[in-house]
Amino acid sequence: MKIISSPRLLQKEIIRLKKKGKVIGFVPTMGYFHEGHLSLIRRAREDCDIVVVSIFVNPLQFGPKEDLKGYPRNIKKDISLCRNYADILFCPNVKAMYPDDFLTEVKVGRLGDILCGVSRPGHFKGVSTVVNKLFNIVLPDKAYFGQKDAQQAAIIKKMACDLNMPVEIQVLPIVREYDGLAMSSRNVYLSYTERKEAVVLYKSLILAKDLIKDGVVDCAKVIARMRSYILKTKSAKIDYIRIIEPKTLVAIKKIKREALVLLAVFIGKTRLIDNILIKR
Ligand code: AMP
Repeated sequence: MKIISSPRLLQKEIIRLKKKGKVIGFVPTMGYFHEGHLSLIRRAREDCDIVVVSIFVNPLQFGPKEDLKGYPRNIKKDISLCRNYADILFCPNVKAMYPDDFLTEVKVGRLGDILCGVSRPGHFKGVSTVVNKLFNIVLPDKAYFGQKDAQQAAIIKKMACDLNMPVEIQVLPIVREYDGLAMSSRNVYLSYTERKEAVVLYKSLILAKDLIKDGVVDCAKVIARMRSYILKTKSAKIDYIRIIEPKTLVAIKKIKREALVLLAVFIGKTRLIDNILIKR
């Protein structure tokens, strides 16, 4: 596995590989790998000739009061976890990605202002800007994202479509811990008790799934039941619970065929997100 930190050198290397007809697969990450990341990297390995993984904790997607400084990092461990699957690990520094005179931003309209965008203003503008830059550097044929960040995946798909990007966006299922908690680099912030209580997110999604299976189609009712279930957990504070149409992210009132139930909940000080796709 080659480790490259210069955007220009990586782009040159990719152009060389593409001239040879290689199919480039790309997995953008912020590092501190867990099985969720590795599932994307392994899939890219199966699908593509060349697998590029990036690790970049993108300052543009963190709010001023968020955890940019304390975001968990362990580059050595990440290297050992991905070296058998990736051909190139791209680890640029902040100056290389955002020189002092950097100005251009990419914003995917209303999709960035709803759901997580309400409590994290500017977050998705940061995400779409960095992914756009990364796509221009890596020139991937296929790029892999996790359903764990459902809104992010929808925004990236829309950006790629709206801006005619010649890349196929693959969205892979959520990888969970033994008890159902969605894997996340931020789970490391949880205390022992909070970690046990954090399973409430997943359990509330299963409650929603069961209610819908039993014929409850009124979204307000499903959300109310989830809300009261979650609030039985001491450390939990709900940011939002929504039921939406998966592609457009528009809220729905009654569940007909497909619905995406998603939520963001603080467990203590840690904000966690999760979702489940429900088909009737
Ligand atoms: P991150 O490093 O948290 O920015 O995540 C990098 C990529 O991994 C994103 O596309 C995430 O959606 C994906 N990802 C994170 N957690 C999981 C998970 N539990 N299961 C599947 N994909 C995940």
